[in-house]
Amino acid sequence: MERYRLIKELGEGTYGSVLKAINNESGEVVAIKQMKRRYDSWEECLSLRELKSLRNLHHPNIVMLKELVRQNSILYFVFEYMEQNLYQVISDRKILFSEVEVRNLCRQVFQGLAYMHQKGYFHRDLKPENLLVTEDVVKIADFGLAREIDSQPPYTQYVSTRWYRAPEVILRSDCYSSKVDMWAMGAIMAELFTLRPLFPGTNEGNQIYRICSVFGTPTIDSWADGIHLARTLNYQFPNFDGVQLSALIPSASEEAIDLISMLCSWNPCNRPAAEEALKHPFFRNDHYIPPCLHFTAAAKRETHSDGSIEELEQKRDMGYCGALYDSSLNYNFPSSNKLDTGSSTVASSIGLTRMFPFLANS
Ligand code: ADP
Ligand code: MG
Repeated sequence: MERYRLIKELGEGTYGSVLKAINNESGEVVAIKQMKRRYDSWEECLSLRELKSLRNLHHPNIVMLKELVRQNSILYFVFEYMEQNLYQVISDRKILFSEVEVRNLCRQVFQGLAYMHQKGYFHRDLKPENLLVTEDVVKIADFGLAREIDSQPPYTQYVSTRWYRAPEVILRSDCYSSKVDMWAMGAIMAELFTLRPLFPGTNEGNQIYRICSVFGTPTIDSWADGIHLARTLNYQFPNFDGVQLSALIPSASEEAIDLISMLCSWNPCNRPAAEEALKHPFFRNDHYIPPCLHFTAAAKRETHSDGSIEELEQKRDMGYCGALYDSSLNYNFPSSNKLDTGSSTVASSIGLTRMFPFLANS
């Protein structure tokens, strides 16, 4: 690691901290993700979900893992460096994105997803913080929760940040699919138009409440599995007819509204696959104009995993007039398995003892 000179901390997350660094030999700028927990053997590292997926995924819209370093039982992922995450881009943005800009951003993410899903992985934690942006290029990052589609259910309960979490996951389905990523994309696409989260739920009950308030209460015809899941949890959906999505996202075209509605279908089977989304009329109007994303000073991002969501909401919720909010709803979902959120320290000087150039022969 002495080949790298650390510049600054970029983010502190669930599994570790991310540092900006320069390769002293090549001058290349990289992002180094330093994992919190110790890895005493390479075998342990190789079983990491993030590594399993990243070593198999090579696509222009998926962040590139350059190398993996283990030193003194600390594991470092060395990635290509990206200027900002999409949350920062949205936060810094003073005027709405044009539809052309939204299209360009979404197209790239769907292309990355189509590739990933076709390779047999789904991400499970798509959100603006996990989409990295440099100029007009977007790449999917943070494969800490990625899973192989062929892996056998039942799946664990803790999946994705609440605001982008698909209803089947909130309702404790244990056999969800790559369509959870498509739900998240519907919410992200809406957020790109309004610069506000579509469903900033304060807890899981409130999350479902907000979804019902927009799309209407699911029925046995629209989502039989969901009705069964709710019954199993002894949960009753709140009664709503739903509203016109176009009223909540006035700057979006009919095609955009149609695609967001399809992506946010209650029933995962009704959500288009990424490949299908790319064929939607929203993408037909294909005149490419580079988006003028505003890269102002990189906002320092606090994690918005469940732990700090209220604080984040106070910042993001101002002026939000989307889904209805019922603060009195206090249905208690069974608690999720919370991921470790303990803090980690920044290594100021790291001496390389071993490098693992697996990418060369993968
Ligand atoms: P975590 O699992 O802790 O959320 P992430 O991989 O999402 O880890 O990284 C946390 C944050 O660090 C990201 O939201 C982003 O701001 C920053 N980051 C991660 N990877 C890179 C990268 N390759 N280039 C620049 N910044 C990055
Ligand atoms: Mg992340």
